[in-house]
Amino acid sequence: MSAPLLAIEDLSVTVRTDEGHAQIIDRADLVLRPGSIHGVVGESGCGKSTLIKAVLGLLPRRSTIDRGRILFEGQNLLTLPRESMTREVRGRAIGFIPQDPFQALNPVFRVGDQMMELLRWHGLPGESPPSRGRIDRTTRARHRAHLISMLGAVQLADAEEALERYPHQFSGGQRQRLLIAAALACGPKVILADEPTTALDVTTQLQILKLLRDLAETFGLSMVFVTHDFGVVAQLCDTVTVMYAGQTVESGPVASVLGTALHPYARMLLACHPDRAADLAGIPGAVPSPLAPPSGCRFHPRCPEARDACAAARPATREPAAHHSVACVLHDEPATATATR
Ligand code: SF4
Repeated sequence: MSAPLLAIEDLSVTVRTDEGHAQIIDRADLVLRPGSIHGVVGESGCGKSTLIKAVLGLLPRRSTIDRGRILFEGQNLLTLPRESMTREVRGRAIGFIPQDPFQALNPVFRVGDQMMELLRWHGLPGESPPSRGRIDRTTRARHRAHLISMLGAVQLADAEEALERYPHQFSGGQRQRLLIAAALACGPKVILADEPTTALDVTTQLQILKLLRDLAETFGLSMVFVTHDFGVVAQLCDTVTVMYAGQTVESGPVASVLGTALHPYARMLLACHPDRAADLAGIPGAVPSPLAPPSGCRFHPRCPEARDACAAARPATREPAAHHSVACVLHDEPATATATR
């Protein structure tokens, strides 16, 4: 198996709030291998988007990374100087597709001007970024030609004319195509997509998922795709991580996780999906507050299979099937639940 392109290792993130310290991410792991699409799935409030923001260095100001590493091509992004992160990684080596296409574009600037700004600071794929963002007329024309080709790649009609229009002149699906083109513009190796289809209707959602799959193949992209929908994972992803209350509870190839989910939370999440649900019972209770998470396994107050050991200590992460890991005492050797992994 190839070495990871992106690896999040043992990452913990705390946010200071007026009510206290909220541990949003608690020793989470994620591995993205070259050429693959990795889904991150879980209910709202499980820390999926925070994980993406940590990779991009875009955590809220009151956040602290307490432990862990984020390795991109073997380099720890958490120790990278801010300038390198801004110019060479975020938006260039690692592209980002945000959740809401209606909020992500500035309504008062033409789409073309907003996208040209990206290239002005990061440069064309394979070229050095322009010094201090200064470009001459020839470079500007090359940037514009590149953007037109990118809009063609995301199948946006009338690409030249599109650059002259304002965001409100596009539908939701077209705006999401614009944002995908923007994420691709600087030739990233990795795309991080934070629920990019959630705000779209079902038909448009399917079109965007197919487009992303095609683009990943065409450009040889690797992608982390955050979603709350196992159906999207099934359609798009090669591997998946299931998160609950800031922790990684299960991870593995999509066929393996969907075929034989090992963690009770993953099984219950799958059973909630309309394609699989016999009835729409849902998962009782709610994701706990990160201000006061439960002891031991954070899922134990909602877990129908909980036992005494579950509240006493955090379950160890095991790999009971090939490349398929789970953190649950049901998969421990007898009496081996430990306080640490
Ligand atoms: Fe349920 Fe216990 Fe497994 Fe947690 S460790 S998922 S509470 S059985």
